[in-house]
Formats: sequence, structure tokens, C-alpha cells
Amino acid sequence: MNIKPKYFLYARKSTEDDDRQVMSIEAQLFELREFARRENFEILEEFQEAKSAKTPGREIFGEMMAKVEKSDGVGILAWHPDRLARNSIDGGRIIYAVDTHKILSLRFSTFWFEPTPQGLFMLQVAFGQSKYYSDNLAENIKRGIRQKLRRKEWLGLAPFGYQNNPLKRNIEPHSTEARIVKFAFEEYAKGGHSFVSLAQFLADLGVVSKNRTPLAKVSIKRLLTNKAYLGFLKHKGEWFDGNFEPIISPALFEAVEKILKTKERPRRRAKHDFPFTGLFRCAECGSMISAQWAVNRWGTKYRYYRCSKKRGRCSQPYIQEAELARKIKSRLQTISLCDEMTNWMLNEMKKWEREETSASQSEFQNLSENIKTAEAKMEKLVSAYLDGDIPKATYLKKKDEVLLVSAVLEQKKKDFENGRKNWVEPLREWILDTKQADFLSKSENYHEIKTFVQKIGTNPRVRNKSAVFDFCPASQFAAKRQTILRSAAASRPRGATLSNREVSIGGDILHFARTFFACPTEALKRRRERNGN
Ligand SMILES: [Zn+2]
Repeated sequence: MNIKPKYFLYARKSTEDDDRQVMSIEAQLFELREFARRENFEILEEFQEAKSAKTPGREIFGEMMAKVEKSDGVGILAWHPDRLARNSIDGGRIIYAVDTHKILSLRFSTFWFEPTPQGLFMLQVAFGQSKYYSDNLAENIKRGIRQKLRRKEWLGLAPFGYQNNPLKRNIEPHSTEARIVKFAFEEYAKGGHSFVSLAQFLADLGVVSKNRTPLAKVSIKRLLTNKAYLGFLKHKGEWFDGNFEPIISPALFEAVEKILKTKERPRRRAKHDFPFTGLFRCAECGSMISAQWAVNRWGTKYRYYRCSKKRGRCSQPYIQEAELARKIKSRLQTISLCDEMTNWMLNEMKKWEREETSASQSEFQNLSENIKTAEAKMEKLVSAYLDGDIPKATYLKKKDEVLLVSAVLEQKKKDFENGRKNWVEPLREWILDTKQADFLSKSENYHEIKTFVQKIGTNPRVRNKSAVFDFCPASQFAAKRQTILRSAAASRPRGATLSNREVSIGGDILHFARTFFACPTEALKRRRERNGN
């Protein structure tokens, strides 16, 4: 019993170790060897482990304890009890070994322990505290993260371009790396780079992977999309506002984003480039119109469109693309108005808008003042009743009156706010569409024409080699007046100011459109009345 035991030396630090105070394994070993030398302990074996002690099942610890349990009694040397055990099973195993004299001595460089009943109690407390600490750890980490998020500080290791500043507990741009990041963004924004060529560009600046090869494509993409460079911080897939300095301006980031997007969606090219597919249905049977290549008898390739006949028999003929395009354009022609007209309309609209704004402002002010008056009245009434100046019955009657007035006013104000200018944006868009129709009816850009028809045309279909689609009532109204408008414009040179006759017809169209967008049912009713049916 009084033979001096030989010692096992145990050092542990896990990578996920939350406690910054814990020394590295090397430092622990150094200190423990020093301690052993000072105390004249003989070291039998050293154990080191890079695992967490929060859950049982550490391999090296198990190996050491197996040796302890087979021995005639040894000592264990560790930096602190919590290096040995941070869960009740491992802690119990050590205490049992002490009880059964397998562990003759436990020494810690930062914790005083003697194998007395008091010592054992202290040890249990130490393990107990460790367990308590371990239980609370998860919660503490969460709390820490929340606090960091609240303080808008970066969590964890700084991304490339930044460096951790332990004093600020945050990250800051790295003097050279940040410049390289900016350089990379600027270079990529020029548009001439692929991920591979940008990786090479960075490699030339000394930015390489661990294997000293240029960065992988995925790393380049991560770099170019990392919002940390905008000063944001990420937690669990979400971005938060950070309070560290951004490296990239939003404009540059967006420019790069735009290029990334165009590269991500490689457009299907030439081979199957049928601009008008997916747009029309067959007017006869309702099947989609599909496209095909054909070669004519002179060997020229051309594209044509035909009913896909997915719904059985159909007698519709095919139509060549050029002809279909011509038909679509002439349909667009029917609703288009010349630039002089649409510009005049936009100008008129601006005038209306100004008038409406000033009118509505005064009306709004009026309403607000009336509401205030009603409120003051109510207040007076209440205080008069409370002072005993008016009887309860009078008060109740008056109160109901005032409340009713207020309610009506409030409702008016609400309606007013909701209804204000709701026609402005739709009308402006309609005028611009009408302008666009004029432009596209002379264009050869089939893709643009298709997109436009998808936007403004309803129920597009093909019947007897002709493109048919319907327009909104405002455009229908314009289409009906086109003949007289054309004849009125015939004598006017293009670009000259509108004649009085044109202004009168144009004003008619514009008024209808405004009424339609402000209140569709009202406009249609009025038109029916005018047409006399
Ligand atoms: Zn068909």
C-alpha cells in the first residue's frame, strides 16, 4: 500500500471544445510531465484523446480504464477532473476504481485531490459539476450564438478575404485577401470568365486549394455567391445583417450574380429553336400547336407549325413560321398606336395624375379634419357626462350619434386610401404595351414577339393559317377606332404634332381606358350603352 504507484497520464481536448481556457493536448502533456518530474512520479504510459467526454464510449479512455482495472493499482495524472469525465458513467467508473483500490492516486495539475472520504466527495462534486456544465453547454452555446447574432458578429472562422479579430470578437477584411476577392469579382463581372479560368486567375495570385491546385469550380461559385462579402452573416442557412465591413459593393455583387444566372441556364440553341412553340392552341380541336423542320423541294430548310393532333382528328393545315409571324404581327398592328399618339397619351396621363394628387390631397385633409372634430366632440361629451353636466340618457344618445358620424368618416377615409390612383399604373402599362405593339409589329425578333403575345393576348389560337388572340377591352376599343384614326393621321408627316382630329379620337380612347382601369364594369356598361345594345 505504501509503495509509490506508477502513473497513467491522460490528456484530452476535443475539437468541439467550447472552453477556450482548456489547453491543447501538447500543452497538457508538457505540463503534466513537468508536474510528474517535480513530484518524482514514474509515468507508466501516456494516453491522449481528441474526443468529447460528454458521452460515454471514448476509445482511449476505455483502453486506459481496462488497463487500470486489470492492474494491481496505479495512479492517474490529468490536467483537471473534467478531462477524465464529463458524464456520470465515466465519472462513476473512476470513483469505483478508487473505491476498489485500482486507482491508488489521482492527481490533477489544476485540482487538489486526496483519496480520503472528503477527497472522494470533492471529486464527485467535480465530476458532478462537469456533468452540470456539460448539460448546460448546449444551452450556453445557443445563447452565445444568439448573442453574437444580436451583436451582428460573425460566427466562427472568417471566410477567405476576412480575418478573425479576437479583440472585436468579429471579422474584418484581410489586407491582401480582401483585395483579391474584390479583384476576382471585378474580373468575373467583365463577363469573359468561366469558373475554371477564374480559378486560374486566382491561382496566379497565389489562391489555391490545400493540394496547391487551382480552386475547384464549386469553390469559385461559393466565393462569387458569398454574401459575407456584402457584410451579411449566415446562420443555419439564413442571412443576417452583420456589423463588419463589406468587401464588395451591392452593385458589383449584382453584376456578378447576373452573369452567374446567364451561365446557369444554358439556353437551348439553334437545333430546336422554335420561337412560337407552347404559345398557340389549335382553334379546331384544342391541341397544342407544335413545330417541325422541313425541307422544301429546292433543298431549303424551314420551320413550320402544325396542330399536334393530340385530341384526335383535325383538319387544320400547317403554317410556315414566316407566315405565322406575319399573321401575329398584323394582329398586333390592329391594337397599336403610333409613337406620337402614345407619347401624347402618357403626357395627358401625367396631367391627370397631377390634378388628382392635388384634388385628393385636399379631400383627404378635409376628411381627416372632420374626423378630428368628431373626436373632440366625443371627448367633450364624455367629460360633460363625467362632470354631471348632462344626464346619462342624453349622454348615451349623443354618444351614439357622434360614434356613427366618426365611423362613416373613417370608412370614407379608408375607401379613399384604397381607391386612390388605382388606375394609374394599369393605364400607364397599357399605353406602354400599345407602344410596344407598334414596335413589335415591325420587328423580326420572334422571341420577343412571343413573350409579348403571352403577356397581352388571351386565348391565343391558330385557325386556317391565321393567328388569333383576344385583347383587353381597352385595346379592343382602340382597335375599333383605328380606321378613322389612320385616316386622320394620313395627311400628317410622321413625327409631326397630332392634329385636332387625332387628339379628339385619341382622347376618346384614353378616357375609355382610364375608366376601364379605374372601374372595369362601369366602363363596359357605358360602352354597351353607347353601342346601343
Ligand atoms: Zn387541331
